[in-house]
Amino acid sequence: MSLNCVFCKKPVFGTTGVTVPGEGPAHQHCYQAHSALARTFQSLDISKLSDDELLDLQDMLLAEVNDRRRRDEGSDDEIELF
Ligand SMILES: [Zn+2]
Repeated sequence: MSLNCVFCKKPVFGTTGVTVPGEGPAHQHCYQAHSALARTFQSLDISKLSDDELLDLQDMLLAEVNDRRRRDEGSDDEIELF
């Protein structure tokens, strides 16, 4: 079993390592450096999505944002503040 860091390819020893989901072992500092640059949301790496999947995700996000905005506006109408 290989225990080389998926980022720098050098061996990972014991407690200094983390496991990257779907990738393998990595040094904590390499993982943090990578995470800071990567376009990941939770465990989803959006740079790995196809164009179609990315557009689907965009539609989904916009729908959710609009939905929440509408819900917020709706509650404003019902509650009289002044
Ligand atoms: Zn490393």
